[in-house]
Amino acid sequence: MKAIVIGGGIMGLSTAWGLARRGHEVELFEQGPLPNPLASSMDEHRLIRHPYGTHVGYARMIDDAYAAWDLLWSDLGQTLYEPSGTLALSGNGADWAERSAAALASIGKPMTELSMSELPRRFPLLDTKGLERAFWIDTGGVLLAQDIVTALVRHLGAQANVTLRGDTPVRTVDLEHGRIVTKAGATHDGDVVIVAAGAWAPRLLPALAMRVVPSRQVVIYFDLPEDQRAAWARGPMIIEKTGDVGLYLVPPVRGRGMKVGDHEFSRSGDPAATRDAQESEMRALLDRCGNLLRGFDRWQVRNLKVCFYSVTGDERFVVEKQGAKGWAMSPCSGHGFKFGALMGLELAQTIDGGRDATAHARWAAGLVGDGPT
Ligand SMILES: Cc1cc2nc3c(=O)[nH]c(=O)nc-3n(C[C@H](O)[C@H](O)[C@H](O)COP(=O)(O)OP(=O)(O)OC[C@H]3O[C@@H](n4cnc5c(N)ncnc54)[C@H](O)[C@@H]3O)c2cc1C
Repeated sequence: MKAIVIGGGIMGLSTAWGLARRGHEVELFEQGPLPNPLASSMDEHRLIRHPYGTHVGYARMIDDAYAAWDLLWSDLGQTLYEPSGTLALSGNGADWAERSAAALASIGKPMTELSMSELPRRFPLLDTKGLERAFWIDTGGVLLAQDIVTALVRHLGAQANVTLRGDTPVRTVDLEHGRIVTKAGATHDGDVVIVAAGAWAPRLLPALAMRVVPSRQVVIYFDLPEDQRAAWARGPMIIEKTGDVGLYLVPPVRGRGMKVGDHEFSRSGDPAATRDAQESEMRALLDRCGNLLRGFDRWQVRNLKVCFYSVTGDERFVVEKQGAKGWAMSPCSGHGFKFGALMGLELAQTIDGGRDATAHARWAAGLVGDGPT
């Protein structure tokens, strides 16, 4: 079988990897260089964690996601992941952390609750201002995202059955007939066409625009004061929700940056526009950091980075068969990377006849085993 993949982010590359491992011929098209620094997948790190609020279906998929990454590490000959554990915090009426803990308990993965007096003893760099509850689980960590994407490009480039076409934007797709036309006017045919075009996908598949919305997000990289660097490099990932602001913190593992972001969807912006950001637009997040992180007045903003989520109304992934020969692959809503390797392997299996398309879409949407806990 010959597969055409559009998009050289983690989803397109992982699907190409999954199909190539099964012996299929793959031709992958990327509009920019490979890898493309504007892709959502191209940031220093992305988090993987079991706590998932009430989305039990996704929480259940995390073990499979780890197994898929392990297979990738084995193919790449290197492990591009650093464990950190996961600290979930809540306050001011927000209850994401407790709901996550309850959901995980129901599937046999209990979190440990830390009291507000225990929290600063165990994590001396944290303040308890504005916090009410804290839960810990040993699992979870940091995927070295842009290193993974770069390594996948190199690995696939060395496979005889894979052709990578960087700097080749696709202009139109015909998912009924398995045909694409590039911006330069070349036509390519495949037995299957997978559109994994991230925040640009609605341009190729206008029907998706009703359901998948590009969402401009800003993250902040910090330079830490000398006396905190070593401790934070061993620090936990933090997912915090205190009513109006929700933040996540990525510790600076393996010499990578210290990053903080919020998970508030802007639901606006154009992935093709210039990517500028001002510190002033991050005021609420910086204020929250000031309450939560000890010595934050000595942290220096190193840079702001603009990136795009592709957001659905219910934050579930869209991976659906379209036309006789096509797949729309949009697993994002700001939480897709951790499932990248798994999404690629599973879609390759389904395309090979391993599962029907409707069942696949339900699984990717996190609906399998997602009942009441
Ligand atoms: C700030 C931020 C923080 C995040 N944090 C996390 C996290 O902690 N954990 C987590 O699991 N996920 C996280 N995510 C989400 C995750 O990064 C995305 O879900 C994932 O990277 C999406 O991968 P993708 O391959 O679908 O899209 P992309 O990586 O954007 O790749 C799509 C590719 O398609 C190409 N393309 C588009 N149109 C065309 C065309 N017409 N022709 C050819 N090529 C085209 C693009 O150039 C791009 O390279 C975060 C995202 C952001 C922005």
